[in-house]
Amino acid sequence: MITEAAGPPLPAGIAELRVWSVALRTRFRGIDVRDGVLVRGPAGWGEFSPFWDYDVAESRRWWAAAVEAAVDGWPAPVRGSVPVNVTVPAVDAGRAHGIVAASGCRTAKVKVAEPGQSPADDLARVEAVRDALGPAGAIRVDANAAWDVDTAVARIVDLDRRVGLEYVEQPCATLEELAALRRRVDVPIAADEVLRRSADPLRVDLREACDVVVLKVQPLGGVRAALRVAEAHDLPCVVSSALESSVGIAAGVALAAALPELPFACGLATVALFTGDVSSTPLLPVDGELPVLRPEPDRLAAVAADAGTATRWRTRLDAVRA
Ligand SMILES: [Mg+2]
Repeated sequence: MITEAAGPPLPAGIAELRVWSVALRTRFRGIDVRDGVLVRGPAGWGEFSPFWDYDVAESRRWWAAAVEAAVDGWPAPVRGSVPVNVTVPAVDAGRAHGIVAASGCRTAKVKVAEPGQSPADDLARVEAVRDALGPAGAIRVDANAAWDVDTAVARIVDLDRRVGLEYVEQPCATLEELAALRRRVDVPIAADEVLRRSADPLRVDLREACDVVVLKVQPLGGVRAALRVAEAHDLPCVVSSALESSVGIAAGVALAAALPELPFACGLATVALFTGDVSSTPLLPVDGELPVLRPEPDRLAAVAADAGTATRWRTRLDAVRA
């Protein structure tokens, strides 16, 4: 446990910092282990867990989200539960089928365009997901900006014809590519990286580029900041996680619960990708929904990071707060 910070003063009321580390069941987003810091304040626990490829400047928004959770708390919910999708990593068809069947969710988000895999791998995975969901389920795919426009057109048209797509998340990297793609396909386009990694998510001009906005609490700087982003763009929103522990997921649930409209299942069931969690009551879906609550991180000793990892996080947090 770190009870005394060596760096800049912590915000008033933050009493405790704990570093956690959990292995993933399957490699996801290029990582096998997820780690981060939990902070405790008067409003509860907050999470600071920028991925290691985020620099100090980008990570400041993630820290703002942790401080909001720990010090200020969140706006009042307008709903008592949040529909969620099962998230399917770039696994083989058999495992994809099993993950979806076990989830109880009626919507699946499937990773595609994984480096080193082929269009046939994607197709087999997505077809297995359709088989597991049945015809009434919704399938969305996330390409994490991997395709150029022509490739995206070909893949999206093919996948949509074979299994039907609810939307495609971040098929290409830039606003210009997304706009060009959107003129050539009927499947709705969701914007993720192009929003959350922009210098000013309030002012990115998404109008030509997408039909759906993906909101993530930490990369956008907190629940209130994400609500302002939603209001600024005036497009249908879906809330997704940044692969947080149940403490960070609770912030995503708070955002989804506070949005005036919630037309899509949210990508907040990602604790299922972990081999463990900070809480003995993890935020995992029941019948495709998450409850609006804040789990107590009562397993911090069990998931405590090793000394080297804890030091790296402490150094990083000092830099972000400087
Ligand atoms: Mg995404």
